[in-house]
Amino acid sequence: MFVSDCLGVNGAGHLTIGGCDTLDLAAQYGTPLYVVDETQLRQNCRAYVRSLAHFYGGNGLALFASKAFCCKEVIRIMAQEGMGLEVCSGGELVTALSVGFPVERIYFHGNNKTPAELEMAVRHDVGHVVADNLEELRRLDAEAVRQGKRVKILLRVKPGIDAHTHNFIRTGQIDSKFGFALETGEAMAAAKAAAASANLELCGVHCHIGSQIFDVSPFELAAEVMFGFMAQIKAECGVELRELDLGGGFGVQYDQSDTPRPYAEYMEAVAKTLAAKAEEHGLAIPFILLEPGRSIPASAGITLYTVGAVKEIPGVRRYVLTDGGMNDNPRYILYGAHYTVLNAGRAGEEAGETYTIAGRCCETGDLIQEYTKVQPTQTGDVLAVLATGAYNYSMSLNYNRIPRPPVVMVREGEARVIIKAETFEDICRNDM
Ligand SMILES: *Cc1c(COP(=O)(O)O)cnc(C)c1O
Repeated sequence: MFVSDCLGVNGAGHLTIGGCDTLDLAAQYGTPLYVVDETQLRQNCRAYVRSLAHFYGGNGLALFASKAFCCKEVIRIMAQEGMGLEVCSGGELVTALSVGFPVERIYFHGNNKTPAELEMAVRHDVGHVVADNLEELRRLDAEAVRQGKRVKILLRVKPGIDAHTHNFIRTGQIDSKFGFALETGEAMAAAKAAAASANLELCGVHCHIGSQIFDVSPFELAAEVMFGFMAQIKAECGVELRELDLGGGFGVQYDQSDTPRPYAEYMEAVAKTLAAKAEEHGLAIPFILLEPGRSIPASAGITLYTVGAVKEIPGVRRYVLTDGGMNDNPRYILYGAHYTVLNAGRAGEEAGETYTIAGRCCETGDLIQEYTKVQPTQTGDVLAVLATGAYNYSMSLNYNRIPRPPVVMVREGEARVIIKAETFEDICRNDM
């Protein structure tokens, strides 16, 4: 029934997270409320760190794709767990720097880094910059010259593999705004330009083939294609690259229809592919990088709402109106994301009623889930939406000038605020 180990039902029939009763959390901190279990978050990191140790002898690093949930406390925990960090903007970089995240473990991504962001990345000696296009390579080179530094880079490559959930396709040339295409020779031209630069150190190549992937085979194919490209770079540019970044996209469970694999299975399969290919190409096995985003915080988080009213439209449907919605979770309105919804006070009972869960914004599409099975629900009840730890807080909005809810972190029955609730003063702060 549950999508995460950190959840349970106590003797009163209430949903618990990290040993805390969700109704108590709602009463103490108010709703809407994001809750994140620290133990689960750390366990999710350890699954990657351990399998890299096991299948690569530690010759690799898992980078948390911070866009999934970027805030100071989460970044501190990533540092403690020995994770690296992937940032995509000045804001994510500043958050990491503000808590002293080790810069050598930071990888700076993005398909159109601004001149100010490139300047920051070089000034702070960010571990690697992942270059996206030729114009950016030129700008980064110029910035490195200006600051008198040598910058480590990876090249973001489109390997021609497009993976989405349960299937993947090989395309001749993918239509994407991200990275250099292999087929057109663009990627090789970029490798040559980078290899020729005195201020850029070409360390490796990167690809990211999709999100919410439940199959191992697209990663094996990506490893094969990318390693082949590394062999070609050695042949044509005379440089042997040492790093291979296979991106993120590891699937998570939002409801019963999702069937994620243990992350070690990906690692094992990719390790085998690389060992075989290393022998074939006469290359050393590269340092492997992974970029899990959602699979780090998703299962550790839930969102709590209070029901304001249940609106029954005879012959049509029943709406449950909550005090949150697309502002704190825009994923349903953006792409119809599915979620498991529970009545937190009746979590042990059968989910026998069908409801559409709506928010309070001036948008008809402001929904969390449609026609979903929930325990009988009435005004004043607390609803829990499960697996909201990724891409919820980080995508939240202030539409209708609704302040963002706080984030509470729980651990073994104790709770603490890690992000304060926004206030109305915050909302008006920058208005003149
Ligand atoms: C978003 C992103 C990730 C993380 O993707 P998930 O599906 O959340 O694991 C990793 N790498 C890059 C470059 C990304 O853009």
